[in-house]
Amino acid sequence: MRLALFSDIHANRAALLAVLADLAARGGADRIVILGDVVGYGPDPEWCAERVAVLVEKGAICLLGNHDAAVAGGDVEMNITAKRAMVWTRTQLSDAAKGFLSTLPLTARIDDMAFVHASANDPQDWLYVSSAERAWPSFRVSDARLIFCGHTHVPLLVSYEPSGRVTGLRIPQGRPVPLIRSRRWLSVVGSVGQPRDGVAAAAYALLDTDKNEITFLRVPYDMTDTLQKMRAAGLPESLAMRLERGV
Ligand code: ZN
Repeated sequence: MRLALFSDIHANRAALLAVLADLAARGGADRIVILGDVVGYGPDPEWCAERVAVLVEKGAICLLGNHDAAVAGGDVEMNITAKRAMVWTRTQLSDAAKGFLSTLPLTARIDDMAFVHASANDPQDWLYVSSAERAWPSFRVSDARLIFCGHTHVPLLVSYEPSGRVTGLRIPQGRPVPLIRSRRWLSVVGSVGQPRDGVAAAAYALLDTDKNEITFLRVPYDMTDTLQKMRAAGLPESLAMRLERGV
């Protein structure tokens, strides 16, 4: 089975279209899993929520992110910039889109794979898995061999050995990484719509469960229109700058 893993779309229509086109050019996937944060920060929340709802109708899995939970009325702690964007996002979303976001699950499971927006331990607390050490509680709590997360917007690959040792691995772009069966693995797949690893290009990952390989991908796209719409909507300037630089 070939799985496409998207996370943190953040209402960025151009970035979502770019990764969907890249996926199609690579022959598509048997299943798409979206690891949450469909909306928040970006200028096209309604379009992205509708597009994702169509993908879910066709069999994709989409999880709840902290921004999705916040716009759907949940009590979620946020910094001032995220909160401003969230308040604006609420004004842009139809009741149908809010309803769709409010029904998303916190976690999902396919065979020996677990999917979550933030961390597998206490997913409702929106913890950041930003290092191998911070991945450790997820391995401790979950019994899945492969765990997939989003939330940090920075790709990460961590192996967990039977001894309990966790190791962060360097991620080669565009080349498959074998996920050795004697170990367990946690991958943060990076962000489609607001990368923060210094690369201003949409991120996603492809998992081949037959070959047992994951490939981290980057898709450059023209963000002129997205930036212009963010500024026209009066969204915080720091968000536009962040998108331009990928930080
Ligand atoms: Zn996010």
